Amino acid sequence: MDEAKRSLSRRDFLTRAGLFAAGTAAAAAGASGVPAAAAYADERIGNWAADGSAEVTVPESAETNASGLYGMYREHNAAAFPADDATPIPPRAVPEAWDWECDIVVVGAGGGGLNAAARAAELGAQVICVEALGLHGGNAQSAGMCGILGGMSMQEEKKFAFPSYPFDAQALTDWAMDEYHYAADPKLIYKIAEQGGKSLDWMADCGVQWRLGEVPVYVAPKNSTLDHHVLKMKDATDAMFAYGQRKGVEYHFQCPAAALVRDDAGRIVGLVAKEDFEHERYIHARQAVILTAGGFCNNKALLERYIPTAAMGCASSYLVGGETGECFRMGLGVGADVSGFNSSASFDGGVDWQAEGGQWARFLYDGMTQLSRQPWLTIDRCGNRLRYMDSRVGEDGANAIYALGDLATIQMTPPGHRSYIIFDSHYEDHLAGYAQEHCRKLITPDLEQIDKVPEHYRDWHHGVQDALDADVLKERATLEELEADLGLAEGVLTRAVADWNETCARGTDDFMYPVPDEWLHPIVDPPFYGCRIGGNLYGTKAGLLINDQMQVVGTDGLVIPGLYAGWHTAGGACGENSYIGDPILGSLMGDVGLAFCGGYLCGTSAVENERGE
Ligand SMILES: Cc1cc2nc3c(=O)[nH]c(=O)nc-3n(C[C@H](O)[C@H](O)[C@H](O)COP(=O)(O)OP(=O)(O)OC[C@H]3O[C@@H](n4cnc5c(N)ncnc54)[C@H](O)[C@@H]3O)c2cc1C
Repeated sequence: MDEAKRSLSRRDFLTRAGLFAAGTAAAAAGASGVPAAAAYADERIGNWAADGSAEVTVPESAETNASGLYGMYREHNAAAFPADDATPIPPRAVPEAWDWECDIVVVGAGGGGLNAAARAAELGAQVICVEALGLHGGNAQSAGMCGILGGMSMQEEKKFAFPSYPFDAQALTDWAMDEYHYAADPKLIYKIAEQGGKSLDWMADCGVQWRLGEVPVYVAPKNSTLDHHVLKMKDATDAMFAYGQRKGVEYHFQCPAAALVRDDAGRIVGLVAKEDFEHERYIHARQAVILTAGGFCNNKALLERYIPTAAMGCASSYLVGGETGECFRMGLGVGADVSGFNSSASFDGGVDWQAEGGQWARFLYDGMTQLSRQPWLTIDRCGNRLRYMDSRVGEDGANAIYALGDLATIQMTPPGHRSYIIFDSHYEDHLAGYAQEHCRKLITPDLEQIDKVPEHYRDWHHGVQDALDADVLKERATLEELEADLGLAEGVLTRAVADWNETCARGTDDFMYPVPDEWLHPIVDPPFYGCRIGGNLYGTKAGLLINDQMQVVGTDGLVIPGLYAGWHTAGGACGENSYIGDPILGSLMGDVGLAFCGGYLCGTSAVENERGE
């Protein structure tokens, strides 16, 4: 294919990063006069030259399809990642003079950081919060729903708790520990179970509106007949930012943390941050430093080392803000231990852009992702059909959002860690009949999440066209060509399509996990389309080891004095070796809920433990 199509320019990336920011930046007005896209300006973006002229060379699909030693590992294109460095960041020594003074420094103003800063300030600490982007909210502002299994006052109103009402944190912990195969710290899980509801109630007291009209907002457990409701988490992060401002938190935007400061006794006493990305400021934290700067979805080397299943099985990430893992590396640099090894959370539809020279970090709503999540014929590289998990809400009202996580696992685990979707020229005719829910819905002007969609993608065809242009979605005149260019062995795809067409002609699916008859569309008319799919990574669950006081613990088993971490810079919220962050979308509290809870816990513990009374 045309080499030019194999690359995206730096300018493209900046434009897209800017779109992310623009879609969410409204609330930043006043917080910073500088466009948020500038936050990316100095970051390394793959191997691309600063002038945007360089091309990324990527191997042909066939060469990378089943790559690596023992056929187990699927190589990623490092140039597509925003970061590729797992080395610990060493601490700095105490300077002769500090630039800024406070009690507590919070790193990151996303889901976790906003809560940590506001909570610590509310409890009387003088707080500085440094944020790399030009706006608050992090990835959390893009989230749609907050999950919790009980213990929140609104759930009490409905007499809802899991596993049974009345709410019992011990019973919830016991259930979760079983789900996590006992590979977690029970005291930490208990803390989440016990404090989760309280943290969300506290946010309500701070001004967060958890209701849509009269309807409380939470995600119910699998097979429950309670539905979830979509709420804009941006409203929640805006409210927490406003509350923090009222409590006197001093926010510094476009001021990324660069290193911890450690004194001779081994205590963390401050942070070095780069004001305007340039000028190093030594910030004295008289009581504590709290790391709440997200995880490392966008750092290839960290994924490979700490979450090999995500490195192998995920094809893209949809956290476009940050997630390069510097704060995790800072923790490693002061001797922190790691927990939650090999645990992450993904949804389905990780389109393999990076294998074709595109970006690893993609917007969740880009049209191509939604197209890839429909029930097309899906096979592994041996030609076996793969099961589809239907996300339509069941007749009993059962919540079907779990289908997105379960399908991700199916797509991440076949040989070679990719699945392959195939359809023909009539694909657009079938979409309405699939009626998939949640973020599988095609992008339309009335989509409830439309304000999260960058303008370019508000017509879903644009994202699909981008994928065709990049040859990520392959359009070929014959199935044989498609087979070869997807890197499949001769006969694998043609046989699978022939079998599928026979099934369609019969009108009933005899597969072990049959799809409804009305979804049986033969693949006969060219052009033919195919795409490689893996998981769509949305959260790393490996991170710094913390105890139930949110204190970071070293590899010597001792607390590192003065250092706290919340999710997702911390790990361990769903044990080890969890593919999908079970049981509910990442942890007991989903993903964004966990970050909110972790920030609240960090702010509370740091003040209570360190104020020296
Ligand atoms: C489109 C989309 C939809 C989602 N939907 C859901 C959903 O419905 N439900 C759900 O539970 N989860 C959802 N998520 C995931 C959820 O948003 C994240 O899990 C959550 O934001 C994590 O919070 P956090 O505090 O760990 O990280 P973030 O919210 O990303 O905050 C981290 C902050 O730290 C900053 N930072 C990073 N490095 C540095 C540094 N060196 N110095 C200073 N600052 C730094 C970042 O810029 C960022 O602002 C979604 C995510 C996206 C993108």
